[in-house]
Amino acid sequence: MAKLLWTIAGSIFALVVIVGTGGLIMFVPLMAGSGEDSGGGDCSAVVEGDDVVKDVTAPMRKNAEAIIVVAEEEKMPEEAAVVAIMVAMQESQLGAAPGIDQPNGDGDAGVFQQRQKPGWYGTLEQVTDIDYAAKIFYKGVDITLEGLSEAEKSAAAGPEGYHIPGLTNIDGWEEMKPGTAAQKVQRSAFPDAYDKHESVARALVGGTTVECDDGGGGGSGDWDDRDGKTKPGKWGGYDNGTIPLEELDEIPWAKGEYLRPDAAADFNKLNAAFKAKFGYNIGVTDSYRTYAEQVELKKRKGKWAATPGTSNHGWAMAVDLGTGINNFGSKEYNWMKDNATKYGWKHPDWAEPGGSLPESWHWEYWGYPK
Ligand SMILES: [Zn+2]
Repeated sequence: MAKLLWTIAGSIFALVVIVGTGGLIMFVPLMAGSGEDSGGGDCSAVVEGDDVVKDVTAPMRKNAEAIIVVAEEEKMPEEAAVVAIMVAMQESQLGAAPGIDQPNGDGDAGVFQQRQKPGWYGTLEQVTDIDYAAKIFYKGVDITLEGLSEAEKSAAAGPEGYHIPGLTNIDGWEEMKPGTAAQKVQRSAFPDAYDKHESVARALVGGTTVECDDGGGGGSGDWDDRDGKTKPGKWGGYDNGTIPLEELDEIPWAKGEYLRPDAAADFNKLNAAFKAKFGYNIGVTDSYRTYAEQVELKKRKGKWAATPGTSNHGWAMAVDLGTGINNFGSKEYNWMKDNATKYGWKHPDWAEPGGSLPESWHWEYWGYPK
């Protein structure tokens, strides 16, 4: 099973202004194949950016990482992990509060303080399992009254088959303030208690790299390490966005657009094939971005731009494209999906329609599978 590790630049959580180093988010949806939806264990996460979350102890981080990974595995957007971490902070200090592995007076336990009585969220063992607890926080749970006494049935969350709502069942939660969404799931007696945890939750999510297993093949190729040469990152001694133009190659039909030489060479080949099919060159609206340009773009576009210094545009390994490719489902876009990887170019998972930041126009140079 190949490991796919890729920190993307398209951080939604632009609030990482708090810190210069944060902002590496990675949400790689599991690729199609044997690994998909196998129910956990396919992703792992590492919280980075120590200066942001220095008061968060190691065990708390572990819980945060699990919450983030489960969000990824359950195909929830990153904002869901923010809400979940806010709740976990409030309910149990992200698991650091003493005694949470045993039921409190109401019968609640675990990081999310979920009720572990018959006809509720699950057993004590289940709700104190962070993966289970996070999953039902996101997705809710169908209760069963099978085998319960009459007294237990009347104390249950609802009738047989009732679905205790999770975050995903709250209509319009994405548009709510995260503290409000949290309250809708938890129905807490202290509805305003969650808001104060928003900044740390965002810092944790924004500073986390998630690593997912790609499911091992299925013809998708092994993009691990991008053949060892094309990994984005420092090269030629230059940092992101500081590469002099003379080290780069101009795209012949797109004046003023530059790429790393290997990426440019393969982009030229890709364009030749595209042109043979459609009769015109691939429209390039953006390519290499200097650090200063990234800062400027961030100011203008907020979450739609990467945290300055992290963009693959800053490594001269990404392009933004027009001529129809900028529309999901267009014939040009579909052709690119079918053909670009033959030339080492790829539409990253996070930019897919179901990804964390859908961008049909953004393509990256990944090199060739080993
Ligand atoms: Zn882009």
